[in-house]
Amino acid sequence: MSGNVIRSGLGYDIHRLKKGRPFLLAGVEIPSPKGEDGHSDGDALAHALCDAILGAAALGDIGEMYPPSDPAWKNADSMQLLRGAFARVKQAGWKISNADCVIICEQPKILPYRDVIRKSICEALEIPIEDVFIKGKTAERLGSIGKGKAVEVFAQCLLVRG
Ligand code: MG
Repeated sequence: MSGNVIRSGLGYDIHRLKKGRPFLLAGVEIPSPKGEDGHSDGDALAHALCDAILGAAALGDIGEMYPPSDPAWKNADSMQLLRGAFARVKQAGWKISNADCVIICEQPKILPYRDVIRKSICEALEIPIEDVFIKGKTAERLGSIGKGKAVEVFAQCLLVRG
């Protein structure tokens, strides 16, 4: 184990948006005609956070931990996956110092749901709400995201020795 007492991690995810699917961000369903397509429930924020915390601890990534080829993860609740990833990080002797995330999509607006999403993340990662932040951005109608075809998420976290 390295002697570092803090470690940063970066996670990224993108999901196509499809009519009739729920739009989920960290387990919070946001009213929208389209939601994330995917093998699991498609929760891009939960997936990016998994990769941020696993990466910071050098414990692999979400695809290794929950292979999409494994039918066990079909329609999986991604917050369960995040809790599982966090359990592994915690077992390795880390706790989360903070997490900060950017959600990029043309629709829906994220701001009205910001604090309920923060609360959902902080419960899963066992940190106070002040240590989690998220913000929504649009792609200024540019590219696939700007045309409303996908949602993209960047998640960054800092781990400290538990
Ligand atoms: Mg994903």
